[in-house]
This record gives sequence, structure tokens and C-alpha cells, in this order.
Amino acid sequence: MSEIQYRVAKNVKDAVALMAKSKGKGYVLAGGTDLLVQMKSGAREPGLIVDVKKIPEMVSITEKNGAFTIGAATPAAVLGEHKKFRKTWPGVLEAINLIGSTQVQGRASAGGNLCNASPAADSVPALVAAGCIANIVGPKGKRSVPVEKFNSGPGKTTLKPGEILVSLTLPKRGKDASDAYLRLIPRTEMDIAVVGVGVSLSMKGDTVKDARVGLGAVAPTVLLVDKAAKALIGSKLDDAALEAAAAACSEACKPIDDKRGTIKYRTKIAGVLLKRAALIARDRINGIEHRGHR
Ligand SMILES: Cc1cc2nc3c(=O)[nH]c(=O)nc-3n(C[C@H](O)[C@H](O)[C@H](O)COP(=O)(O)OP(=O)(O)OC[C@H]3O[C@@H](n4cnc5c(N)ncnc54)[C@H](O)[C@@H]3O)c2cc1C
Repeated sequence: MSEIQYRVAKNVKDAVALMAKSKGKGYVLAGGTDLLVQMKSGAREPGLIVDVKKIPEMVSITEKNGAFTIGAATPAAVLGEHKKFRKTWPGVLEAINLIGSTQVQGRASAGGNLCNASPAADSVPALVAAGCIANIVGPKGKRSVPVEKFNSGPGKTTLKPGEILVSLTLPKRGKDASDAYLRLIPRTEMDIAVVGVGVSLSMKGDTVKDARVGLGAVAPTVLLVDKAAKALIGSKLDDAALEAAAAACSEACKPIDDKRGTIKYRTKIAGVLLKRAALIARDRINGIEHRGHR
């Protein structure tokens, strides 16, 4: 293995300058729970590692006019301690808190989960359902993209040379709104999702006013399933609406066949999880608690 340079960036400008100078050999280090494993296996051979954990903006949680902005390198465990975030975005939090074990939670970040670009990344379907925006800074300045457009394929982001993900912004949400994330794994924990579904709902009385659905592990990137959301909007989450939304999710699936699940199984499970997650999100709006699922 050739020599690896390690730099601690003091601020975003510094991190971007280091990444830009590295000419494609640089890797951002957030929690390192993907990067270090990939380096050990030889899948990644960085010439430069840019540690962003000392950049205050990248490890903080702020709220402005009801919108939360999470620094891209904020550890999952830190986010889990934020009471208001937990109350506002229980589905996003349960997805992030599903990542790995207690030890992994102390390091792993939602930003790292997104930038690793696994189609099975647990936080991403929930972030997509939440309408989350990725805030990027690079040599040419700032730009923002919806999370569902951030990745272009397995292991591939749309970040341009020198660009880094600085933070994730979740929009202000109304009073009668909540969300949920469910995944299916072959074991009870510490495994990769066979399917992951995030649902975010807002209700007026017992009718769905707005909905977004994110679907993971069934296509090269996490999908925003508009057709499933449309089937839920205007409904009272009756069986017909849930069936229609489930069918839309199954229809959107373009999964692979592997040891964790066949194409047929993944396609069916996507619909099943959609129905369950939508009902959990509604329960939460109605004050019925559901603990995060492991
Ligand atoms: C034991 C174990 C269990 C796991 N379980 C799960 C699980 O259940 N679900 C799941 O989804 N994942 C799981 N993972 C994978 C991993 O923990 C997550 O993907 C985690 O969120 C990665 O975050 P990180 O901060 O550690 O990222 P890092 O490893 O630091 O970075 C990941 C990748 O993204 C790049 N990157 C990171 N931050 C930025 C940034 N701000 N800008 C640009 N590029 C960036 C890095 O260069 C690297 O290529 C597990 C890993 C382990 C070791």
C-alpha cells in the first residue's frame, strides 16, 4: 500500500481545498465505519484522508424556523440524544439509529451513510421520505440537491471533484405530521436491508394531506416513489389506498437476486413494509408510540 496522508480540516473551505488538491485521491473521513473497512479490504486506496469531524458546522444540529440542519458528520448517537429532533422526525431517527451497533453509532453519520452510496443504506429512504436536501460545497461554491438525486448508482455519488457534503436539511413540518422507517433483514440486527421503506405523512383529521415514500435496497439508488405517495394522499389509509400504494412500491422495484432475497421476495416485501410504515407514521401522529425497530 502506498503512503496515505492524513489531514484534519479546520473548516469547510479548508476541507474543500484539500479535496480539490488531491486530484481524486482524497477521501473525506466522517465516522470511518465504511471507509476504514473498505481500506482494510483494499476496496479503497486513498492518497489523502480529510478528517471533517473537527469542523463545527459538520458535527452540529441546528434548527431555524422549524427546519433542522444536521452536520453531515454528526454521529448517529449524538442525533439520537436530541429530544426535539426525535419528536419531530422519529422515522428519520429510527433509520439512522438502526445503523450498526452501539459502537458504530458513536461514529457513523447520516452524511457518511449517504455518501457511501449503498442502495441499502438505512438512513436514505427515510431522508428521501422526509424531503431532505443535501447541502454541498465545492471549489465552485455551494449547491443543494434533494437526497434522492444525490447518488447515481451503487457506490457512486454525484459529487464533483473537490465537493463535499456539508449538511442535510429537513424541512419544517406541520403539527399533524410524522414518519416511520422499516427494513427487513435476514437476521435480528447488524445486517444489510433486503428492503427498506421510509414513509412521511401529514394528515388533516383522518385524511392524508401529504405523503412521501422512499424505497431502498430494490434498485441501484434509493427511490422516491411518487405513485405510492399519490395513492395515499386524500385517503383515510383504508385497505384500498394501502393496497394501491403497496402495488406502486412493488412496481417501482428493480432489485437484484442475491443470498439475502430473491427479486420476487424483495418486490413483495416492498409493498408489505410500505403498508406497515404508513400505519406506524399515522399512529405517531395520533400520539401512539412505536419504538425504533432493530
Ligand atoms: C459493523 C457495521 C454495521 C453496519 N450496519 C449498517 C446498517 O445496519 N445500515 C447501514 O445503512 N449501514 C451500516 N453500516 C455501514 C456504515 O456504518 C454506515 O454507512 C455509516 O452511516 C457510514 O458513516 P460514516 O460516518 O462512518 O462514514 P465514513 O466511513 O466516514 O464515510 C463513508 C464514505 O462516504 C464518504 N464521505 C463521508 N462523509 C462525507 C462527506 N461529508 N462528504 C463527502 N464524502 C463523504 C467517505 O469518503 C467514504 O467514502 C455498518 C458498518 C459496520 C462496520
